[in-house]
Amino acid sequence: MKLPTLACFVLAGLQAIAQEIPAVAGWQIGLPTPGTHRAGVDIHAPHSGKGCGKIVGTASEKSARGCFIQEFYKKTAIKPGRAYRYAISYRTAPQMEGKAAFLIDCYTAEGEKSHKSLISERLPAGAEWKTVSGEVSIPEKVVRVRMLLYLHGKGTAWFDDAFFGYTTDGAPNLLKNGGLEPPGSYALDLAPENGTGRVKLSADFENGTLGKVKEIAPNEFYVYASAPDKPRSPFLWFHFRVEGCEGREITFHVNPTPFARDNTGGNGTRSPVMSHDGDQWAGIESKSWNDDGTVLTFKHRFERSPAWVASFYPFTADHISRFIAKHKSNPHFSPRVLGKTKQGRDLRAYTITDAAVPEADKRVIMFTALQHDLETTGAMAQEGICRFLLSNDPRAAKLRRAFVFHVVPQMNPDGIAAGNMYCPVGNLNRQWGLDTTAETTAVEQFARELAARGRKIELFMDFHGWCTPERATILMTYGKEITDEATERDALRLVEKIKPKLNGKVSTTLWRKRIQTVTGITSDVSRLASGWMKFEAGARLACSIEIFGEGTCTQDQYFAWGRAFAEGMAEYFGF
Ligand SMILES: [Zn+2]
Repeated sequence: MKLPTLACFVLAGLQAIAQEIPAVAGWQIGLPTPGTHRAGVDIHAPHSGKGCGKIVGTASEKSARGCFIQEFYKKTAIKPGRAYRYAISYRTAPQMEGKAAFLIDCYTAEGEKSHKSLISERLPAGAEWKTVSGEVSIPEKVVRVRMLLYLHGKGTAWFDDAFFGYTTDGAPNLLKNGGLEPPGSYALDLAPENGTGRVKLSADFENGTLGKVKEIAPNEFYVYASAPDKPRSPFLWFHFRVEGCEGREITFHVNPTPFARDNTGGNGTRSPVMSHDGDQWAGIESKSWNDDGTVLTFKHRFERSPAWVASFYPFTADHISRFIAKHKSNPHFSPRVLGKTKQGRDLRAYTITDAAVPEADKRVIMFTALQHDLETTGAMAQEGICRFLLSNDPRAAKLRRAFVFHVVPQMNPDGIAAGNMYCPVGNLNRQWGLDTTAETTAVEQFARELAARGRKIELFMDFHGWCTPERATILMTYGKEITDEATERDALRLVEKIKPKLNGKVSTTLWRKRIQTVTGITSDVSRLASGWMKFEAGARLACSIEIFGEGTCTQDQYFAWGRAFAEGMAEYFGF
């Protein structure tokens, strides 16, 4: 009798899961205690509309909890210093150990330390829908207001018809998707498994990221970009291997939750790309988003197996290993290890120079890339420079005789290995000179050793960038107010040699003060790689570079961009 009972139980479980969709447009799902709670849309018996929010908790230890969060902040910020009306409908499992709660809180521009709770209401358990409503006064100077729907501990809570708006009758709901309606992806969430199992998707390799996988028809997959209970990149990122795909046209429906078409964090316009070897990547052109931008569908006919699919051109440690292996026998190329990352990975570098010329007769040029791990356009451009420097071009030969090039192709191997986590040790490009990260410290040590041997850095470039048609490529360097006349003049002359060789919009920024706000963070420029090299390691010229590709830029175009940098440098140095 045991087997049928178990089968029944499993089937019932599957049906329960099939009614739940682990995403809800407009709301963030907060699961601060991984594995204890799950949250999503339930299409069974909502208060109104097609769905409602549901949180299920299976543990109560150590303040286990899950929640829905919606905030009014930045673009969606609301006017402070006035009253608003709020409402929420909810029900819970008839009896439960856990507790549902409703919160509204706020912050001023001072951030975390200004956190203030405005409404904090325990919601008594009950199987019938109840509505809680009232008015809340948002204090002056508040820049961020959040509504949170919580379940603490074991149990189940449903939420529906959330409202936040002006107190006047008929005022519109300022919440996005206050009804917690299911996203356009829900038909796929409800679709039954119906595959052959011949094609396998996996992400059990460094930089690989993939959430739940469901084969909904032979050669047709519905996948989540990330798993809800695992750390994920703050950008849309997926990267998986496809096996058994030879000769098959496979359709992928990717649910990028918590991201969407209009919110990818970067690189969204190029997505996705595929490769058969992990090095040569090509864009997949047959793609489209569904109506509400919650599912990216694409298909590809694979000539060989295995293949890799990613949301943008990856730049992995394996790729660097293959680049080193390819150039190992080139007499002008020597790889080295500068140190270990926090997690013990090698922090690798290459030296490119003509060894026949004594070191004392050459100056130093140094490059870094991938402090920010998703910014692979900068890494590709930097590889393009290296490819040129290792080529037979007569200008490359002259550059190799005049300079020793030191290249750190991947400043952040740990973040990249974990699936582009955007600096697990905090923003590397704000920690130079602080001795707070193993990665920056290792490169600083290397630069100090160069200086100790009298090898001054003539030029330093730090590469960043991602793919978006909305931004221009930017070359950032330091003005005469914080350097001197000759440095500014030479920096601009170098930039003017490079700029005409680059495609698309290119602009120059001169930082004229030591304290700068760079991509939203205000600090001394010496905490940036280029500023540290300039002001603390004595580099003569130092630039930060953001490479922004157009929407359809190919991998080869990024390499060509690097070549353009190298040719501009050759021209600047008179070759
Ligand atoms: Zn960056």
